[in-house]
Amino acid sequence: MGTPSEVPAARPRPLDPIFSPRSIAVIGASRRRDSLGFSLLHNLVVNEFSGAIFPVNPHARAIHSLKCYPAVAAIPDAVDLAVIMVPRDLVQGVVEECLAKGVAGLIVITAGFSETGEEGAALERRLRETVRAAGVRMIGPNCMGVINADPEVRLDATFAPTPARWGSIGFVSQSGALGVAILNVAQDLGVGLTQFVSMGNKADVSGNDLIEHWEDDPETRVIAMYLEAFGNPRRFTEIAKRVTRKKPILVVKSGRTAEGARAATSHTGAIAGTDVTVSAFLDQCGVLRANTIEELFDVARALARCPLPGGFRVGIVTNAGGPGIMATDACVNLGLHMAELSDATRAALRSFLPREASVGNPVDMIASATVEHYARAVAAVLDDPQVDMAMVINVTPILANPIDVLEAIGAVARERTKPVLAVMMATEEFYDAVKTARELPPVYHFPESAARVMFLLARYAAWRRRPADLPAPEFDTDDAQVAAILDRAGEGYLDPAETFRVLELYGVPLARWRLARNRDEAAAAAREIGFPVVLKAVAPGLVHKSDVGAVQVDLRGEAELAKAATEMERRITAAGHPLEAFLVQEMARGGHEVIFGITTDPRFGPLLMFGLGGKYVEVFQDVRFAVTPLDAEEARDVIRGIRGFKLLEGVRGEPGADLDLLTEILLRLAQLSQRHPRIRELDINPFLAGPDRQSARALDARIRVGS
Ligand code: ADP
Ligand code: MG
Repeated sequence: MGTPSEVPAARPRPLDPIFSPRSIAVIGASRRRDSLGFSLLHNLVVNEFSGAIFPVNPHARAIHSLKCYPAVAAIPDAVDLAVIMVPRDLVQGVVEECLAKGVAGLIVITAGFSETGEEGAALERRLRETVRAAGVRMIGPNCMGVINADPEVRLDATFAPTPARWGSIGFVSQSGALGVAILNVAQDLGVGLTQFVSMGNKADVSGNDLIEHWEDDPETRVIAMYLEAFGNPRRFTEIAKRVTRKKPILVVKSGRTAEGARAATSHTGAIAGTDVTVSAFLDQCGVLRANTIEELFDVARALARCPLPGGFRVGIVTNAGGPGIMATDACVNLGLHMAELSDATRAALRSFLPREASVGNPVDMIASATVEHYARAVAAVLDDPQVDMAMVINVTPILANPIDVLEAIGAVARERTKPVLAVMMATEEFYDAVKTARELPPVYHFPESAARVMFLLARYAAWRRRPADLPAPEFDTDDAQVAAILDRAGEGYLDPAETFRVLELYGVPLARWRLARNRDEAAAAAREIGFPVVLKAVAPGLVHKSDVGAVQVDLRGEAELAKAATEMERRITAAGHPLEAFLVQEMARGGHEVIFGITTDPRFGPLLMFGLGGKYVEVFQDVRFAVTPLDAEEARDVIRGIRGFKLLEGVRGEPGADLDLLTEILLRLAQLSQRHPRIRELDINPFLAGPDRQSARALDARIRVGS
């Protein structure tokens, strides 16, 4: 890397003056050891910043043995980067002085801006306008600063107590407080960074800008982010989809609490929280989501050191049975597959392992395993074409020093192109000795963490393999008619006839239906449809019909129908819902009850849902979400992604569901949600998914329309 002038081949990037300055002014530097203004200057000095440092403070002659200047204008040399830590009300003036001096980059540490209310927000807007008008980039305000661990630069312009080691991860944190913790965890795990940025209020430079900065940076192999909110989800999508094709982006997104209350009378609305939306959104951008900072670094270490796996099949090599079983369980639970080792691999393992060893997967070499056994077994497993990646477990070494084991498997792994992760149940001294050895396989304390890493590696590899930029398919639909129905209806729930009509116009198959104003009309409708039929009550404000006995299935003749109608009318009137009409439907049989839904998120726009349906949706919550626009591959992922997908494929002789049809309906609904944003919520529950198109139909639906 280095400064732009030293590397003529590299295209200068807008953030270079911030990351690779040749000189820095620290405005608001302080002699008080307990102040941020001292800590930051101290970090620059002790980390041996490669350029010149100019403290600025009108009340000091020298700070930290450096000559001090009364104002930035008094500095005789050129200043590339200004770090500003003066009281809030002085920031605007100082920024203007810096621009007059010709600085090329700004970091504003000072807090008290938009995070404190309208007055601060106004100051922050003015700051942004000033720097944007000058074409100079600014990090902050209200941030912890920036680190560039590049040995050519050695910039630590933060007040954090922990320095960063040089490595291959670019890390951006939205929270300054967490930034300190992030640097600590990185230090503990021996993880190295290229750059670290605490963004603060993101008045100018945003997470998106940083992703773009690292996009083509050869030293940054993994981009890691700690986020509290998405500033601009649409731009993030565009950038992330492009950049994840080149290098992985890992995100820890906090805020598992709701970002805003939503009216949730639909199943879809009730299940969709902010969090599932965020996960769906990140998935569709190819971004990996970690639950904790520690997990993020676990994955980042593997991504930085290992090749990507060709699939989801894992081979496990261990010297103890118990951890092998734990590893197997963890892998299978996550959706990884245990590789079926070939006869040739088994024979090869048999040829050198003791008789008591097990040569299936997991390969249990038993406690007598030597370093050589490890090397040969890992080689045999990796060379099996059925294996995409290997987890190597080593427990309580009797015959082998764990460092020797790790080096031996590292040597085997380096000659091959499959990821190898090590689980070493060893002492902390061992971990300290190996944690920064980047040529060795990444090491984990427990099989569960290694399995989770393998899963995310496989997911990312699958993302890289899939075709890029598939267009969302378009269906030929009569949108003018849909719009007319929505316009006529005004706000609130559409009535059943309007609801079914919208679905028909969008090509969603429905169970045959008729509306009837009374019992006689119901009988006529049933004769037309053909017995057996289903009778439902239609009443204002009646949303969950079965709760009040407003659904009667399998009525086999006119007498049964008449009786059901009388009783139903009495029941729902008693429950406070005056009957408006009866809905008579064909009695549908066979197939699986699934749910399709649309809900809208204030930030992310229309959201699609699919899952196992019926009365117990909220109990099982076996659903997946997707943000729009949705391409065919993404729609298939949503359907394949539910836990109960095996049911839809058909189990125990039961026929499966027409998966292509389900995919198509999801895509049609995505188009509906995008073309008719007034649709705030839609539930089709249940949709009866049979083995073919003819047998599939929606049995119940509701649509809520907003202004
Ligand atoms: P609600 O969701 O308002 O309680 P539904 O119309 O979804 O009412 O009916 C409840 C349940 O009754 C459905 O989950 C389904 O199992 C069954 N059901 C509804 N309509 C039909 C139909 N036409 N054919 C067969 N079963 C039906
Ligand atoms: Mg229903």
